[in-house]
Amino acid sequence: MIEVTFTSHLLDWYDAHKRDLPWRGQPEPYAVWVSEIMAQQTQIDRVIGYYDRWMKRFPDVVALAQAHEEDVLKLWEGLGYYSRARNMLKAAVVIFQGYGGVFPTEYADIHGLPGIGEYTAGAISSIAFGQKEPAVDANVLRVFARLLDMELPVRETKGRSRVTEQVQALLPSDRPGDFNQAVMELGALVCTKNPDCVHCPVQHHCKAHAVGTVLLRPVLPASKKARRINMATGVLIHDGQVLIQKRKPDDVWPGLWEFPGGGIEKGETPEQALVREYMEEVELKIEPVAKITTLVYTYTRYKVTMHCFSCRFVDKPREPVFNEAVEGGFVRPEALDKYAFPSGHRRLVEYMKTDRDFETLFADALKKS
Ligand code: SF4
Repeated sequence: MIEVTFTSHLLDWYDAHKRDLPWRGQPEPYAVWVSEIMAQQTQIDRVIGYYDRWMKRFPDVVALAQAHEEDVLKLWEGLGYYSRARNMLKAAVVIFQGYGGVFPTEYADIHGLPGIGEYTAGAISSIAFGQKEPAVDANVLRVFARLLDMELPVRETKGRSRVTEQVQALLPSDRPGDFNQAVMELGALVCTKNPDCVHCPVQHHCKAHAVGTVLLRPVLPASKKARRINMATGVLIHDGQVLIQKRKPDDVWPGLWEFPGGGIEKGETPEQALVREYMEEVELKIEPVAKITTLVYTYTRYKVTMHCFSCRFVDKPREPVFNEAVEGGFVRPEALDKYAFPSGHRRLVEYMKTDRDFETLFADALKKS
């Protein structure tokens, strides 16, 4: 077990070295909730801008509960993992309707809200309400895997439980929220992937440091290889506008907008895939005009290569039939910024805006369409 003096050493360090983050001055549950959800899977430096814009637009849970999903997704655009934003909207509606717009104070009620797991419930309960609840995220797992010199894979159930028990045992009654944040801060600033043990405030409590196994901890499960996917996407240009569609609620990236296209099948060229996908998705006969770019990005465990083309109608222009989307239509290119796209398609929009050739390409396709 770790000695009780660990807590005071850690909190002294936290008081002197914690980063000045916008939500740290206001430990209201709504602010803690927004910052914690945004910080999942995202670097803190990137979160700050999003957090400020969000709080300006939706300053409290009631404002969020009354928002349109489209506006929420637009504000979230670029942060990825859009289910987080959708769940926040759902949870805000539950708080508005079920709790009179007042954030619940009981851990079980907080944990019962859409999109709030053990970690976030622990963070809100401890930081906003001063309750002795552990908040165990990836940083905390890494730090404790080293402090305890754990041979168990720390992200698996047994390893996580071991860390949670240890945090629970160390949580001080007077500052549980600061304790949770201090461990996370230590993991973010000192006990990183390449730890700075020389400047660590809890070095003499660290078992891995004592026995020389720091770089062997945490033990991680065998990593799965990223799956490769090849896609073809087409920007159909007609009458000075481009075609976009909104994805279905039960699909990947629900509620986000995209240019039609899809996976390239075995034996197909990207151009052939695009022609087929346009026929299947929107029942339009198109042909590629020119390659705009090829984008490579990762999405969860997929590595996506997206071949992007401008395209035009083959025969007379027709109205699209949206077989794979809830709605869609032609919009002026300058209006694309109003819509929330998944990251690959947003990158395509940004590429088109800055590409000198695209202006020519666009004008050329307009002449021919
Ligand atoms: Fe992490 Fe090194 Fe501190 Fe141990 S001594 S907690 S490994 S930074």
